[in-house]
Amino acid sequence: MKCPLCSTGLKQHLLNPSLSIIACPSESCVYPFNMSISELHDHNLILSVSTADIMHNVHKKMNDNKDIDEKLAEFIARDDPEVS
Ligand SMILES: [Zn+2]
Repeated sequence: MKCPLCSTGLKQHLLNPSLSIIACPSESCVYPFNMSISELHDHNLILSVSTADIMHNVHKKMNDNKDIDEKLAEFIARDDPEVS
């Protein structure tokens, strides 16, 4: 997905722990902040992020890093029923 204003590849930015926005990473570009909130939703640029998604990514990152013990990665990224 590319920025319609400057053709830079769009990136997903975390707004808060449960919400992320697809936005242009270029500092000189305003996309998609030139649009209203409802337009952002219309273009599916606002995404809700679940804790499971985040933990999945953390787990993946841990497994990619061979210096971290796999058991430790399992422990850190395991599902926590008290959180969800
Ligand atoms: Zn842009």
